[in-house]
Amino acid sequence: MNQSLFKNTLTYLNKAADLAKIDPHVFSVLQHPKRSVEVTLPLRMDDGSQQILTGWRVQYNDALGPFKGGIRFHPNASLEEVTALSALMTWKNAAVGLPYGGAKGGVAVDAKKLSTHELERLSRRYVDAIYPIIGPEKDVPAPDVNTNPQIMAWMMDEFSRLHGYAVPAAFTGKPVELGGIAGRDTSTSLGGVFVLEWFLENSKEFKDRLPQDISVAVQGFGNVGANIAQILFNKGYKVVAVSDSESALYHKNGLDINEVIHSQDKKGKIPKNVCYPVKIKEVKNDVDCETLTNEQLLEADVDVLIPSAIENQLTEENASKIKAKVILEMANGPTTPEAENTLTKRNIIVLPDILANAGGVVGSYFEWVGNLQRYTWSNEEFAESLKNIMLKAASEIGKVKEEYKTDFRTATYIVALRRLSNAIKLRG
Ligand code: GLU
Repeated sequence: MNQSLFKNTLTYLNKAADLAKIDPHVFSVLQHPKRSVEVTLPLRMDDGSQQILTGWRVQYNDALGPFKGGIRFHPNASLEEVTALSALMTWKNAAVGLPYGGAKGGVAVDAKKLSTHELERLSRRYVDAIYPIIGPEKDVPAPDVNTNPQIMAWMMDEFSRLHGYAVPAAFTGKPVELGGIAGRDTSTSLGGVFVLEWFLENSKEFKDRLPQDISVAVQGFGNVGANIAQILFNKGYKVVAVSDSESALYHKNGLDINEVIHSQDKKGKIPKNVCYPVKIKEVKNDVDCETLTNEQLLEADVDVLIPSAIENQLTEENASKIKAKVILEMANGPTTPEAENTLTKRNIIVLPDILANAGGVVGSYFEWVGNLQRYTWSNEEFAESLKNIMLKAASEIGKVKEEYKTDFRTATYIVALRRLSNAIKLRG
């Protein structure tokens, strides 16, 4: 079942708007995208054949500034999914106080089946198709699921070619050599760690517990999942389970995530049937290691569950079986409203996507500002500024949560809605 992500985010928005008494005119504007563009992308394959692909760029709202949001290459991408993700970007940018509106792009394609040349041609085609509506002052794309710095480099090059001169600020998440910023690739994960630790430090149950006594399961081992698992592992947390789309590894004493990352294959898949328990460095089959399915990973007996893959993973069906006490949503839209109701009733804390994974777009913001000003940030300046923005947002949201006696997601939507509502009203 692929429940409508768009309907889900509007359900959350509705709840927050009701509670915070948001002007109904503003609320009704926010239920629709400002502009949706569908493009046809003929792709020449290496064997001389041609595939016709479809792509989208949805610009949801720009009350707070230029549109901003990633581009995903995924076989299930659709106009509806991209619209929902563009709405989530709007709330996310507003919630953490960035001067951006929200947008998202997508191409329905199985990027893992394309050669490097095919991927480059597709990336350039996509930019040719959406060129009129993007640019540093209009709409600034970035990586998302199955897109990466190399793809941003091709896209920036194509945009610059059409423009007549180099425009690094047209895309973020670029390689450092092309005006990218060191740390952007891990900023989504690092931002999530700041939010998680902010929560743990302020929680009665966790504040006196050491990282090694806090167990973690991470679903998804792409850029976000692998990096957050590694950062938490290196900070001493007990990361007991990780998974990719095919399989999951589990060890009750914790996995050595650096070893797992080291043993990923060329396509980024984690090893099957080989486990890396903490303290046992050499590669070996260990009797205590278990392989799980993705479903079992979500239901693992851990303190913190981190869905870092795709949407609609925690649903009505599995919400009553989740054993984690805290859920850090690093994916966009992993929890359905029905699941959230069940989780809330069971006192499970959900730190919502639009706060938890905002470190990515915050990193993008620093990159964009640097490109516009021809300025390069130091690593220290970058990490410090990311931390400041994430902690400021988390504590503002924490206060609103207390004020309205509600859950973290509703509080985050309220903060976003207030900013959007003020901007929309002031613009008249
Ligand atoms: N794709 C990321 C997200 O969902 C980053 C977007 C950006 O940096 O513009 O937040």
